[in-house]
Amino acid sequence: MMHATRAIIDLAAGCSHFVPMSVQTLGEAFRLGWRARARCLVTGPAPKSRHDRIAVFCDTVTELDMKTLVWTRGDRFPLDQLEGRLKCPRCGSRQIKIIFSVPGSPEAQSQQKRNGM
Ligand SMILES: [Zn+2]
Repeated sequence: MMHATRAIIDLAAGCSHFVPMSVQTLGEAFRLGWRARARCLVTGPAPKSRHDRIAVFCDTVTELDMKTLVWTRGDRFPLDQLEGRLKCPRCGSRQIKIIFSVPGSPEAQSQQKRNGM
């Protein structure tokens, strides 16, 4: 029993390191050089097929311009409210997810290499 409880506490403590909770506004993210991409992914039961088939109706990813976001929303705008303000121009969905790229993370570095930076 003691061991199980200890493991859960360690897991929770470890997770907190990967979530940069200190960055909460557009202005902070912009100054730290974060990049944001918006993704629209709309899936549902495929028409004219068996019920277990899932069709992808829209899968759109676009790079968001952080500087424009700061200018239009303000540098105090909370990052967690950004998703609710976006709408996919292709399908009209408002179920948008935002993927942040933090400089120095493995993903951001591999992206810079691809772009020849
Ligand atoms: Zn869409």
